[in-house]
Amino acid sequence: MLLFKRQERHVTELSLIVPCYNEAQNVDAFYDRCLQVFEPAEFEVIFVNDGSKDDTYKKLQHLHEEYSNVLVVNFSRNFGKEAAIYAGLHYATGTYLSIIDADLQQDPEIVKHMTEILEKKPDVDVVAAYQKQRHEGKFMAWCKDHFYRFINRLSEVDLRENASDFRTFRRNVQEALLDMPEYFRFSKGLFSWVGFETEYIPYVAAERFAGTTKWSFAKLIKYAMEGVISFSTMPLQLATFCGALVSVFAIVYGIIIIAHTLLTGIDVPGYATTIVVVLFLGGIQLLVMGILGEYLAKTYIQGKHRPVYVVKKVLEKKE
Ligand code: UDP
Ligand code: MG
Repeated sequence: MLLFKRQERHVTELSLIVPCYNEAQNVDAFYDRCLQVFEPAEFEVIFVNDGSKDDTYKKLQHLHEEYSNVLVVNFSRNFGKEAAIYAGLHYATGTYLSIIDADLQQDPEIVKHMTEILEKKPDVDVVAAYQKQRHEGKFMAWCKDHFYRFINRLSEVDLRENASDFRTFRRNVQEALLDMPEYFRFSKGLFSWVGFETEYIPYVAAERFAGTTKWSFAKLIKYAMEGVISFSTMPLQLATFCGALVSVFAIVYGIIIIAHTLLTGIDVPGYATTIVVVLFLGGIQLLVMGILGEYLAKTYIQGKHRPVYVVKKVLEKKE
């Protein structure tokens, strides 16, 4: 079920979906770079202004006034990159679609290469770029490596290490993604879940053109948890497994205590052991309740069927 019925528009060859949050210093440079790579007639840019607090929207309005292949979706507030991507998918009309950041870390030249692959290989539906080298520190790299291993082991989807949302794909993939109106979106997982033949190409992310990253460590942790919870129920099974293990341990330990008491009489000391066992069990119970709560909360919010984003205004492409 589509949340919005897409309007029929003039069909373009390539749609660039660009989520923008506080990218006022980047959007002009981004568009200029696109003009260096593509002919104006062969592409459209769907800029999604994700509730920016700077002048991003003003800059986008200017771009829209000046160029006929620019469409701007202005959100009513910040809904996050995933929501912006989803909105972009609704408005894009290209034969090929590409998700790309506004900060020029991902060169539009690579998009050209991706579309060439799609043109040459009819069997390939998605070309995804993965980062050959990463700029971040060792600790961050370690966390990300382990996250990929963890999620691949736990979930029904397989995530390619270091692959980003930077992808170019066909309309069939767009349709499949639009048919997934889930509230908690984790694009890497969604792409993997919908399937399709995917080719991975390496790329080196450039330095940000201007501004700073919107990701903090805490945001990344939240995003990683969303990924695990959206694509796996394994943590719930883990809870059952922990419960079973502790119960078996308790029964065996109980038998040992009874046997010991019968053989050697009542042994009063044992305060430390009792405390350790109570704390240990209490800890496990809280952990399990927390895991349950995470799933319940997500089900609760999804159950309200709220839209993934709210649009304040759309600046349609000028024909
Ligand atoms: N972004 C967004 N909404 C947000 C955060 C980020 O639309 O709440 C956009 C941002 O403007 C950029 C892209 O998502 O175009 C990637 O963000 P960023 O460059 O901060 O991430 P990084 O490249 O550091 O992973
Ligand atoms: Mg970036």
